[in-house]
Amino acid sequence: MKITNVELLVLKSEGLYNNPEGAEEPLGPAYMGIVRVSTDAGIVGYSDMETCASVAKACVDAPKWSQEPGMECFDGLATLLIGENPLEVERLWYRMYRGSIYYGRRGVAIQAISAIDIALWDICGKFYRQPIHILLGGRWRDKVRAYASTLFRPTPTAMKEAVTGYLDEGFTAVKFGWGVFGKDRHRDVTLVAAAREALGPKNDLLVDTGWFVERTPKEAIQVVRSLAPYEPFLVEELLHPEDYDGYRQVSEAVDTRIACGEQEATEWGFAQLIERGGIDVLQPDLTRCGGFTVGRKIVHMAERANRLVIPHSWSSDLLTAASLHLTAFQRRAEFVEFSTSYGPLSRELVKEPLRMKDGYLPVPDGPGLGVEVDDAVIERYRIA
Ligand code: MG
Repeated sequence: MKITNVELLVLKSEGLYNNPEGAEEPLGPAYMGIVRVSTDAGIVGYSDMETCASVAKACVDAPKWSQEPGMECFDGLATLLIGENPLEVERLWYRMYRGSIYYGRRGVAIQAISAIDIALWDICGKFYRQPIHILLGGRWRDKVRAYASTLFRPTPTAMKEAVTGYLDEGFTAVKFGWGVFGKDRHRDVTLVAAAREALGPKNDLLVDTGWFVERTPKEAIQVVRSLAPYEPFLVEELLHPEDYDGYRQVSEAVDTRIACGEQEATEWGFAQLIERGGIDVLQPDLTRCGGFTVGRKIVHMAERANRLVIPHSWSSDLLTAASLHLTAFQRRAEFVEFSTSYGPLSRELVKEPLRMKDGYLPVPDGPGLGVEVDDAVIERYRIA
């Protein structure tokens, strides 16, 4: 089997990243990339990716510049893969990483590599007729507790209404993030208190404080201490994603679990978060960190260091399915993130959307990612 084509399709719909004050449930991503890898065996692999997809597309489509085989260092990603055996995922990951190293390493290049890597694992699963978590190494669980992932509402009353809605849907855990949080520290506490009151003592509350607020480590410690009485399972992204030493200061000062990692990439980046940042909960986004090939290494590093991995997953069912496979493969796992956004790019890309049951999402058990992409929907929203 050989790779015959690598495409990055750019999608656009109405969408909203942040809810303005007074808004209700967000629509979710407005722009998305879809990677599609084709083979001469007729097997096709997919992944979504939430980034500046037009720039990522340029990384995929760029020509081959290098003259000498084995010396590729600023070549288009597709040129590095066409003609190769898609089952050699780890070698191909490194071929893409090194082959783009002059313009890549992080940003859209690693995000494009991530999505292509997921598509290659999807192909492997379809070829071997196994779900990806089996190829990663095994299934420790067949369902994962889902947390509803949404944005902060602007008032305590709206927070309580939101929580009640999620509990009625069957969720037993809710994460609020971004939105109005960080603009007024007194209001922040009343919003979190309202969420805890509506959740009751047994359901879990997660808080994403949004690093765009630009706190110092001491301010971050104050935020965590002000929220600690409401027993958040974790507090996320208090600091700039590169502030490893700041994270260390925060995690050593508080008992609450500190989470971050959705902006981080590669095994080297996650080693920094673990060793230097002292992060308790790693949140790799599989479409940014380097795909399953890196995600599997992160799980191994985290298990050795006694850290949790709860993948960041706030785009479509493709990424949620990928996150379920990585979570099924972990010996110790707590949650999968389930975006409650209702926009078309969040909800419509696969033929049978993932459904939560009694607070849990089942781990897909079909070949590859185990979800079937709806090509007609992709064509409807495709702009490039
Ligand atoms: Mg976040």
